[in-house]
Amino acid sequence: MKRLHGVKAPHWKHTADLAAVRIPIPPEVIIPMSMHIGAPAKPVVKAGDPVKVGQLIAEAGGFVSAPIHSGVSGKVKKIDEILLSTGQKGTAVIIETDGEQEVCPDMGPVPVTSKEELIEAVKASGLVGLGGAGFPASVKLSVKDGVKIDYLLINGAECEPYITSDTRTMLDDAELIVGGAELVQQYLKIPEVVFGIENNKQECIRKLGELCQGKQGMRVESLPAMYPQGGEKVLIYNITGREVPEGKLPADAGCIVMNCTSLAALYRYVSTGMPLVEKCITVDGSAVAKPQNVIAPIGTPIKYLFEFCGGFKTDPAKILYGGPMMGIAVPDAEVPVLKGTNAVLAFDREDGILPEPTACIRCGNCVKHCPMRLLPLEIERAFNLKKPEVLEQEKVGLCMECGCCAFGCPAKRPLVHVMKLSKAMLRDYQTAKKLEAEKKAAKEENK
Ligand code: SF4
Ligand code: SF4
Repeated sequence: MKRLHGVKAPHWKHTADLAAVRIPIPPEVIIPMSMHIGAPAKPVVKAGDPVKVGQLIAEAGGFVSAPIHSGVSGKVKKIDEILLSTGQKGTAVIIETDGEQEVCPDMGPVPVTSKEELIEAVKASGLVGLGGAGFPASVKLSVKDGVKIDYLLINGAECEPYITSDTRTMLDDAELIVGGAELVQQYLKIPEVVFGIENNKQECIRKLGELCQGKQGMRVESLPAMYPQGGEKVLIYNITGREVPEGKLPADAGCIVMNCTSLAALYRYVSTGMPLVEKCITVDGSAVAKPQNVIAPIGTPIKYLFEFCGGFKTDPAKILYGGPMMGIAVPDAEVPVLKGTNAVLAFDREDGILPEPTACIRCGNCVKHCPMRLLPLEIERAFNLKKPEVLEQEKVGLCMECGCCAFGCPAKRPLVHVMKLSKAMLRDYQTAKKLEAEKKAAKEENK
């Protein structure tokens, strides 16, 4: 089958063979209420309240939202406004830890005997997509009646350079992943379950392949190591040959895509009652003394992760949440670990400072590398000329901000930045067009 292309990004998986180590509990955790797509969670604790590990500290703020639990025991210090990594302000619950890690006394296995109970369990666990998108998992599984899902695709591609936290989950918690996959398969009645794993992770392919043996409809697909193999639309196409139309969801193509670590977290919750309260995170980059995988409670300021990894060899010029292709630069190492944080990378000046862009030479590399078959150079042109109608024709809405275009650009054009701004320009244009059409229709009606 013909597969969607991308770029041969270097792997730099320095930490793949290093089992994750739990770091000491930090003195304080900062837990933002907005760690997912959708409405922020609403705190249900107040300053001075004691908390235990696994305790609910914030309830979901709406249908597209997720509750939040504490990963530490201690006392709520305050509920405060903080600057989020998006640059916006948001509420956070700040907890002073006591180091005891006392677990909630009423915790235990969560019975699941139907689709409704499974979705309720996923909702209560606080699970959001752990591949980075942060979409509440319960919403993803709430498939509308009449929509047939043929495939559960489990994303074990982990195609970004440096990141190996999913690799560690596949090696260390493979049984939990398969347990989570079986729950989703059984209660959503999905005939085919496919683990999509890049072929540079042979040990993961072998381990999950063994566990799939004898399980109805479950298999591993070895995929070429190519970035962005783990992009949702790329994974769907490369495994099933199906395309997700612009503005539609994977369910519209008969697929649900879940990250392997999300399924492990789901099974852990159902079998023990422990919600999503901690993360395995890859700590790496040219400024880090001893790169490794660590486990830390959600809310841990990332400076403690770097400290645990021997600190910085040199002053970091750039710190990222996530990988070098799709990661977000953060202002400093005071920011906390979020539900979707799978890596924190720190780079020295040589690797961290981008060169000045030069003029586009129309070489076509960006077009060649775009997995969504877009024309990034034409999109940049339309954006600079402020022509949203051209952005619409060029289907910029399909852009998944993967960075392949910028990666292959000899002129170092800031193409991903332009794609993000172009999408915002197009949204404004389409909203204005819709309002105008509604006004016109109302006027016609009143004639
Ligand atoms: S890769 Fe860069 S230089 Fe080449 S056409 Fe695209 S934007 Fe222009
Ligand atoms: S245009 Fe978008 S989807 Fe295409 S390579 Fe660039 S960032 Fe990726």
